[in-house]
Amino acid sequence: MVRIVLLGPPGSGKGTQAETLVKDYHLAHISTGNILRENIRKGTMLGKQAKAIIGSGQLVNDEIMIGIIKDAVKGKKNFILDGFPRTIKQAEDLEKINLSPNLSLYINCPDDAIIKRLSGRRTNPITQQTYNIYTNPPPKGMHVVQREDDRENVVKDRLAVYRKSTAPLIDFYKKKGILREVNGEQTIENVAKNVNAIMQKIA
Ligand code: AMP
Repeated sequence: MVRIVLLGPPGSGKGTQAETLVKDYHLAHISTGNILRENIRKGTMLGKQAKAIIGSGQLVNDEIMIGIIKDAVKGKKNFILDGFPRTIKQAEDLEKINLSPNLSLYINCPDDAIIKRLSGRRTNPITQQTYNIYTNPPPKGMHVVQREDDRENVVKDRLAVYRKSTAPLIDFYKKKGILREVNGEQTIENVAKNVNAIMQKIA
């Protein structure tokens, strides 16, 4: 059984590393951000509730989020959570439903690198594949969009929310002895190599 929680500031590369892990270790990738954005696109009730909150860089409330997770993990034994938990309350709720992770991968990255990465991030709205106009540009002619919350003023708010509400989870999982830290300020390939080395040890 493999249950991984990815921790790290927005733009640290959680989604990118999750994509590699999913392929290499056959895990289900559960990204709460992607689930919420999908709901916004489809115009569901949840999407309508979440749109303004996401657009302003704040967090959707814990009760709604744990409901989403319960639904998303149904029938899945091995999974990687990307973007959840984001508060201590969410981490405690995960324990209450007997889904404690056995590894928390913390991708560390300084603020200046994050601001540059997020302002350059673009997504293919059909495949959800992400690119960066500076470091990993989309193929010529591909239609890509910028996330509303990747605008610089919102990024700063997201970082503040991360520091206040999410960063305490680093200590939370450290105390449980399951936290492993990776330097996220390297090429995607090198971060993946470090992640892989950690995976080999727990496998
Ligand atoms: P992400 O794609 O992980 O950066 O998430 C985008 C946005 O979705 C966040 O800034 C939050 O507004 C919302 N969100 C995603 N996951 C959570 C969560 N676990 N708890 C609360 N809000 C979330």
